[in-house]
Parts: sequence; C-alpha cells; structure tokens
Amino acid sequence: MIRAMRTRPHVLAAALAIGAVDTTGREEPTPAVAAGWLDDSTLRPHAVDVVDYTLRATLDPAKHTIHGEGTIAWRNTSATAIRELWLHLYLNAFKNELSTFLRERVGGRGSSVPEDWGWIDLRTLALHDPSGSTVDLLPGIELRRPGDDDETDARVPLPHEVEPGEGISIDVAFDDKLPIVIERTGYRGTFHMVGQWFPKVARLEPDGTWAHFPFHHLAEFYADFGAYDVTLDVPAEYLIGATGPVVAARVEGGRRIERHVQNDIHDFAWTAWDRWQTARESIDGVDVTVLFPPGFAHIAERDLAALRFALPYESGRYGRYPYSVLTVVHPQDDASEAGGMEYPTLIASQGAWAMPAGVRVPEIVTVHELGHQWFYGLVATNEAAWPMLDEGINQFAEVDAMAKWRGEGSAGDVLGLRLSDAAIQAVAGNQAVLDEPVAQPASAFASGASYGRLVYARTAAVLETIARVYGDEGVGSALGRYTRRFRFEHPGPDQLVAVFAEALGGRAAATLRAALFERGWVDYVVESVSSRRSKAAAGVFDTNGTRETLSARDEAGWEGSVLVARRGTLAFPVDIELVLADGSTRRERWDGEGASTRIPWHGPVALRAAVVDPDDRVMIDMNLENNHGSAEGEGGGAPRTLERVTYWTQLALQAVSP
Ligand SMILES: [Zn+2]
Repeated sequence: MIRAMRTRPHVLAAALAIGAVDTTGREEPTPAVAAGWLDDSTLRPHAVDVVDYTLRATLDPAKHTIHGEGTIAWRNTSATAIRELWLHLYLNAFKNELSTFLRERVGGRGSSVPEDWGWIDLRTLALHDPSGSTVDLLPGIELRRPGDDDETDARVPLPHEVEPGEGISIDVAFDDKLPIVIERTGYRGTFHMVGQWFPKVARLEPDGTWAHFPFHHLAEFYADFGAYDVTLDVPAEYLIGATGPVVAARVEGGRRIERHVQNDIHDFAWTAWDRWQTARESIDGVDVTVLFPPGFAHIAERDLAALRFALPYESGRYGRYPYSVLTVVHPQDDASEAGGMEYPTLIASQGAWAMPAGVRVPEIVTVHELGHQWFYGLVATNEAAWPMLDEGINQFAEVDAMAKWRGEGSAGDVLGLRLSDAAIQAVAGNQAVLDEPVAQPASAFASGASYGRLVYARTAAVLETIARVYGDEGVGSALGRYTRRFRFEHPGPDQLVAVFAEALGGRAAATLRAALFERGWVDYVVESVSSRRSKAAAGVFDTNGTRETLSARDEAGWEGSVLVARRGTLAFPVDIELVLADGSTRRERWDGEGASTRIPWHGPVALRAAVVDPDDRVMIDMNLENNHGSAEGEGGGAPRTLERVTYWTQLALQAVSP
C-alpha cells in the first residue's frame, strides 16, 4: 500500500509543481540493468499449495452487495494435528465503531467514519465428512473474544483433528455488504472495488500455531498460498478487473460472467464499474491491462510508461514475474482510498489527475504497487508482525526503480530543482527515528505518521544508504538472493539480515539490524579544521658543541588537521574531503569506527576547509549542516560556502515529507 504520498499529496504536488516541466527528454534507460546479479534457473516454479478457493460471486451494484458461495479446500502443512480453523472476516472491520480497525484509528487513510457501513455475513460453513455427509460448523463459530466486539477474526472449532498432511473441504456461502470506499475496499456510485471480501483462512505456521489477527488499522495481511478459481457475475454493462487471467467469459441474461483462475497466490481482489475504460499492452511477456476513468487515457499511458521500465527491471532484480497477467486499476478521485494498494496480479494506482508530467506521483504509485508483487506477493511475509519487510523493502524498491528510470529527479523534475524519491525518504525517516523502532508489529506504532515515517521511509533510507556506501551491486545481490530464495515462502527479519551478511559482510548486516531494531542513527560532524604555516622548531639546541637559541620561524609549507566525529549508534565508512587554498581537493577514507578521527595535513598550500561524506552517501545523516567546516586561524580565510544543493533540497523537503 502507498502511505507516504497519501498523507499530504497536495503539498507534495504544490512543492513539485513550481514551474513544473518535464525537462528530461532523456533516452529511456535499459531495464535489464540487474539481470546479471543472480539467474532465475533455480527459482521454484510453484508454491506449496495449502488452501484453494473455488468461489462464485454475484454483484448487486444497486445494493452494493455480493453473494458468494463455493468451496475452500485446506491442507494441514504443519507438523501438528489441528483442532480448529481461524477465518478472517475482514469486511466486518467496517461494520461498526467497535471493530478493532475503527477503534484503532490513529491517523492516515481509513481514519474517517465510514460513510456507509460494510460487513460480511456467513450463511453456510459445512465441513465435508469422509462419509460423504457434511457437518455444520456455523453453530460452533466464535466470532468475538470475551470483552471484545471485533468480528474480523473468527475461531472455527472442528469436530475432529486434522492430522499433518491431511486435507479438509468446507462449503461456504456468504453475503457481503460493501462500505463506501474506505481503506482499500468499497463502492462509490457504480464504482466497486472489492477487497477482503471472502472468508479467508488464516496462515498456519509450520509449528502448528495460527498467525491470525483482527483487521488492525495500520496492519495489512498474511495468508497461505493456494489456487483461486473465482467466477464473477455482474451486470453486462459493467467491466471487470480481477486477479488472474480470464479463462472463460460470456454475457448471458443481461449479466457478464467471467471466470478467473490463478495458482500460487494468497489473495484475490476485483473491481466492477460501468465506466471503466481499458488500455492493453504486452510488456515483457505479461498481458497488462489498465482500467481508468473516462477522459484519463493520458494517465493510463503514464502508468504503462512506468511499467515498461519497471516490470522488466524488477523481474531482473528480484526474479522473474511468474504470472501471465497484470491489471492496473486507476480509480477516480472520489474513490482514491481504493487506490495505492496491491493484490496478486492486480494493483491499484492513484490519482493526480491534473498533475504535470514533471511531477511523478502516478508513476511512483504504480511502481510502488508493482514492487509489492515481490514484497508481499511472491515473498509473503507476515505484514502484521513485520510491516518493514513488505512496505519498507518495497519502498526501497520504489526509490531504486524510480532512480534507475528517472535519475536524480525521480520524484519531481522541475526547473532548477530535482527532487529525488530517496531524499524524501531520508528526511521523513530522520524525523521519527528516535521515537520507536522500525522493526515492530504494525499495531504497535503510535500513529499513522510514525508508521509511515519509520516502516516506509526509514527502511528505504537505510537501504539506500547501505547501497550508496557499500555499493548498489551488493544490495541488489542481497535482495536478489532474498527474493529468489524465499519466493513462495514466508521469511522473517533474520532471513533478510542473513542475506545482507552473505552479500555485503557482517558489518553491513549488523548496521542494518541496528538501524531496524535499535533506533540506530548517525550524524557525521566536522568538529574542527586547523591550519597554520609550518614552523621550524624553536628552543635551545646543542649542535657540534655549539649552543644555539632559535626562535620560531616560518618554513615554506603549511600544516593542520581535520577532526571528524561520528555521533550516534550506526557506523558507515565515509570519505573526508580536504579543501585546499588553491581550490584543489583530496580525499581520505575513514572506516567510521570509533567516535572520531583526526586527519593531519602537511603540504605546500594551506588547508581551508573539510567536508565529511562529500558525495552524500549516508542519506540518513541526521544533520547535514555540520558536515563541513572551515579552517580557523592563519590560512583559513573567509569561510567557504560549502552548503550543497542536496542540503537545501532536504530542508525544503521537510515541508512535504510524510
Ligand atoms: Zn505499499
């Protein structure tokens, strides 16, 4: 999901729109930059199939209801016999204000009272018995916990144990009432975006514990892989966009009926609207469809342009996109809470209808949601427990892809000022770094703002810093290993840190861990720069039996030193640039270990000033204003103007960062 852009898109737009013109005119870069890092020959072709859904869903667009029925086939892949199922009934988050979701409103999207309530009613829950009969599970269902009125996390006791390896089959029927669009799902007029709409089995961990949880305000989702075979039934004048390819379609009795089938996924979403326009294109062997409101073909073209770069680029970097289709839903402005969201093979981009070409909000959202096909879709981490593993890494994937595609002006390219997506993340993350750790459950964050700054921005800025300090190839290699090794799996933070240790060494991995788990921060400071003429030594000297008293006197050269300190708990190797009186520069390397280092200078010209990290590799440096210093005393002269464009850009960004 997109959170950063959503918070204050108008402010960002205003900041970027200063004379906004797309000045690039640059050639399209080649997407296959990363293809050499790791090859795809060892990619596993399929997920372990745990839960299969065969569903039929009928939309009543006037009542905004969906009747669903079908079968859920589930297999116990844990090592333990199971005596209960947990079902997520997440539409009930919008049923009343006692839901966990609405009680937890902490700012950001989804914080308003629903304009119209939504819910899911289970009508049938019937377990197939080996004898051929069925057992009604509805009477035993536990919708709520004692003292808690939330109805999104239901416990379903089973009449007998399900042994490891054993499968069960359950007939389901349910009736959804959609809310007016709120937090990813719902309707607005005849527009319908349908997410979290069916009873969904929680994920069973290998040790036999259920990773089940209510729909939290800030958390996203977590589920097992399986096959989805879903037949959608809507009025004939409505167009459908849905997860997976269409395998059969017909119009019959005034209804449009489409069957979508997709294996190796863990969720299914769809949209139906009688105003959808479509743009289609084959990109990198994938059938891409963009659904957009009438009159906005130019925005669809911008989505497609972003995908022409990003789809092959991310496939090269994170392992080939394995599905045959990708659908981009671009909701209209008054349904924008349906936008900026990811589902398997279906992403929702977002607004910015009147935005100039130099302001890249639609492209950023599209690239962001595409990245989730890997960081959420294919690498299916527990988004409630470790949101940094999907939103955080994916934010870095967004920053990286935008930079590779559009360079320094990746967020906005306006006359005289290029704003990089990476700089926005760095400023936003620094604002919150001392408040709470990045690596914690979504529901533990104090506010939506803190969640956005830490999970999204801080994770991205830390990874961007590691890439700039240790090399883009190394970070690409680490993430390329991670996404390939854990494709169709459910890794945690330990697996992430381990691939960084493999690819970049223990120091980089330790820094990553400290930054994510321990509120790690860093500030490099030029403490002092001294410079003076070299003097011959003064004093009393005995030479060849003769005693001579010498006073200090100038020699030809200059001497001095630079004292650089590292504040904070993170250490990165940095360059220190010495600026000499003749305008020349020279660089020294500091490994960043220890609290400070002193760099001596002896030479024919005076030392004037010094800059630590002159290339801005440490994006997360807390204060760039103290990264330079001028020499005091003889030879120092007037202070040099060393402030860099980046610094002023970052200051400006504080006004627009999330
Ligand atoms: Zn996201």
